[in-house]
Amino acid sequence: MKIHEYQAQALLKEYGVPVLGGELATRPTEAAEAAAKIGFPAVLKAQVHAGGRGKAGGVRVVKTPAEAIAAAQAILGLTIKGLPVRRVFVTAAASIRSEVYLSLLIDRAISRMVYIACSAGGVEIEETAKTAPEKILRLELPPSRNGRTAADCAPFAERLFPGEPGLAAKAAEIMASLYRLFRARDCSLVEINPLAVTQASALVALDAKILLDDNALFRQPGNEALRDPDSEDPGELEARTAGLSFIGLNGDIGCMVNGAGLAMATLDTIKHLGGEPANFLDVGGSSSPQKITSAFRIILRNPRVKVIFINIFGGITRCDDVARGMLAAAQECNPDGSGKVPVVIRLVGTNEEAGRELLAGQNLTVARTLEEGALKAVELAQQVISH
Ligand code: GDP
Ligand code: MN
Repeated sequence: MKIHEYQAQALLKEYGVPVLGGELATRPTEAAEAAAKIGFPAVLKAQVHAGGRGKAGGVRVVKTPAEAIAAAQAILGLTIKGLPVRRVFVTAAASIRSEVYLSLLIDRAISRMVYIACSAGGVEIEETAKTAPEKILRLELPPSRNGRTAADCAPFAERLFPGEPGLAAKAAEIMASLYRLFRARDCSLVEINPLAVTQASALVALDAKILLDDNALFRQPGNEALRDPDSEDPGELEARTAGLSFIGLNGDIGCMVNGAGLAMATLDTIKHLGGEPANFLDVGGSSSPQKITSAFRIILRNPRVKVIFINIFGGITRCDDVARGMLAAAQECNPDGSGKVPVVIRLVGTNEEAGRELLAGQNLTVARTLEEGALKAVELAQQVISH
């Protein structure tokens, strides 16, 4: 789960990382008032779930109330990476000597937590990682139940600030704070970029990005409270409300499957046959017709979807329920009956005959096995122009 910068800053502060703090505004006059309170120069920052705001014009330094109004108007009119800016964070302007990158994340490839740091931080960090990868420092942590103290972090911090023991000591404290925050709040990423070195040789986190582990939300009510429904993928939001697990992917074959394991196998089979799934969607056991209708609606929200592959292995899930849901969905999602998005279905198991009978006469491609169905879906996706 993504959270906003202002929320991430508040978490950093709670765990002892120096931040400047600030106020949130939704209107230009509000932003100007906040800036006046904080003092000029101030910085206005777009709050959206996306990076690269600086380059998109979403971070502006202002020196007067008039400038604050103009900048807030401009930022509130922006759409950054497809996300409309609804709020600005107003913060003090630091006088920056240099910008450092520092993060703690989970490297799934090695199943370890890893610190990543670079003395050349800021908005060009991606470029630096490509052109000068030797500048990126990594510290892989062995699995451990113990915390990490600033003393543990000191050798790495000294590599980040060679010959500057004062800054290295502060960086080591911040690294230890990141670790405590990461573990206490079930993060999967805590990133500070830039961690600014100020003219007064202090370290301050000017930007923060935190990802919270969705699978740990059940034990983190405080994390759940940070959710911004306005900023979430509408499909994923509707899916959560409907009790479906849905994850958007980049392909064009919409998938509706019962059971997470079968859904994974379905995606793998599609990929194996040269296709690209548009989503993971597990309608779960005991699928009511309403769930199937919601699933259709969620899949069809995505304009890239060229074909839908339904793979149901009926156990607790009854094939006739799925069929009824599909009939309702066909009416709701394709009211003109044009059947714009072809559907391939494999429906086997409990009440299979009843399900097939209900669907007889519908414009569907019926498959008997997972592989046959996946192959038909891949072929159709290659023929169809997107709806
Ligand atoms: P991002 O582009 O979405 O990562 O947004 P950031 O919050 O990292 O801001 C982008 C850049 O704006 C930073 O790298 C800084 O150079 C600059 N910036 C951000 N906050 C301040 C500030 O308080 N003072 C000054 N002078 N520059 C800032
Ligand atoms: Mn940044």
